[in-house]
Amino acid sequence: MKAASIRRASMDAIVAQAEREFPFECCGLIIGDNENSVEEVRPVANIQNRMHAEDAAAFPRDARTAFLMEPKEHLAAMIEADRRKLAIRAVYHSHPNRDAYFSPTDRAQACSFDPPEPDYPGVVYIVISIRAGKFARAAAFAWDSERKEFAETKLTVECRGDPCTQC
Ligand SMILES: [Zn+2]
Repeated sequence: MKAASIRRASMDAIVAQAEREFPFECCGLIIGDNENSVEEVRPVANIQNRMHAEDAAAFPRDARTAFLMEPKEHLAAMIEADRRKLAIRAVYHSHPNRDAYFSPTDRAQACSFDPPEPDYPGVVYIVISIRAGKFARAAAFAWDSERKEFAETKLTVECRGDPCTQC
């Protein structure tokens, strides 16, 4: 199964976003190239509160326990990646006051096009646990094609290309 490796700067950026958007879930994408020379974070607005306010029957959860990426920002990041010949490396979101696990809702969202298969088979999903507004834990989940399920995988945070020993 695919291990996850992201740069310290990317991790710092998503943790800062997750703490800033607490008590709501934050979300976004990490884009990069195959040679690992480019890696950039693209935060995407979570519109779950707006959808919940507009239609609570269709969107029973608010942004404290769910996220929905703003479609235009999501698409803009995909188009930018395509134009610059980059790939989506990771999809991330936060869990305010909950552990960093991959919930049934997370799985359903990650397999939105064709339920038994992930939308982006090679992409790692990162979940950030935030407790009382502060970073608690990060975990990565990758698709296990034999079990047809997401499973936790090793998450390495790199400082200038070397595995970080302080985090
Ligand atoms: Zn989640």
